[in-house]
Amino acid sequence: MPASLTQAAHAIGVDLGGTKTAAGVVTPSGDVLMSETIPTMNRAGGEAILDATAALITGLVERAADAGLSVSGVGVGSAGVIDAVAGSVLSATDAIHGWAGTSLVSGLCSRLSLHPSAVQAVNDVHAHALGEAWLGAAAGSSSSLMVAFGTGVGGSFVLNGAPVLGHRFVGGHVGHFASPYAAFDGAPLACVCGGSGHVEAIASGPALYEAFLRFGGSSAHAADTRGVFALAAAEALDGGAGLDGGAVAGSADNRAAALCAIDVCAAAAGQAVGGLINILDPETVVISGGLADAGELWWKPMEFALRQELLAPLVSVPVVRARLGNTAAIVGAAKLVLK
Ligand SMILES: [Zn+2]
Repeated sequence: MPASLTQAAHAIGVDLGGTKTAAGVVTPSGDVLMSETIPTMNRAGGEAILDATAALITGLVERAADAGLSVSGVGVGSAGVIDAVAGSVLSATDAIHGWAGTSLVSGLCSRLSLHPSAVQAVNDVHAHALGEAWLGAAAGSSSSLMVAFGTGVGGSFVLNGAPVLGHRFVGGHVGHFASPYAAFDGAPLACVCGGSGHVEAIASGPALYEAFLRFGGSSAHAADTRGVFALAAAEALDGGAGLDGGAVAGSADNRAAALCAIDVCAAAAGQAVGGLINILDPETVVISGGLADAGELWWKPMEFALRQELLAPLVSVPVVRARLGNTAAIVGAAKLVLK
């Protein structure tokens, strides 16, 4: 194949998560031309997920061909710990049943009749960070640290265009080191990894909701993390003329619990990222995930705690919100196979 044709070829980027799998046709310059999303068959086992993912990719390759575009490779960002050399899933949470042990790259290659070198896979957070480092909030930076605060806490340090995966591909598990905030009544909070007292046990979205309940908040006032933010953002209900005293006190207490939970969880997040900045000294820091999108109520105490933590030479480090949204991991995954 002539070099010019190789350079012009497009790639498929796949973002395979616990609930949905999104894929898109990505141009060499990183534009997503067409995309599709399917539910991840997270109870059906690895082979069924590979069947569905291969069908998703085939559909996009056909649409690209109809538009006169050639596709040269497939990049996958997947949930779980991914062996990027063997192309296999080393471990995964129960969010995707039977995903651990799946031969991701060879399974897709055989279904798509592709040479193994045409398919690459990394963990989805690494793909997300690579997308932001290439074309998003950290574009133009030679090094960037992205930390995502959502259902869990994860991150990736991208150095000279490549995520640092670690010797055993576990690099980026930034939710699992000690946080002084991750304790209650003197006892460390349990973490989903089986450990305790970790950042994720206080700084994830579900942890924020647990903190709201610990501060005396009621599920009748906020059913989930999103509800806690809505409660915190609501106008103060106390002091309203003519309202029943008891009901007012209950509402005010719940709003106070919501504000406390957000403050503590955001401070824990910021302190953790600040410590990582001290260790890694990235050119740019990108904060992502559902909590980063929740607005100033979370961002302000997060950034305050982050900057409190920084060593003096780091005070001017830019800390910015992720910019590419849902396409970040698709673009980053495609980048794995775009030359
Ligand atoms: Zn943990």
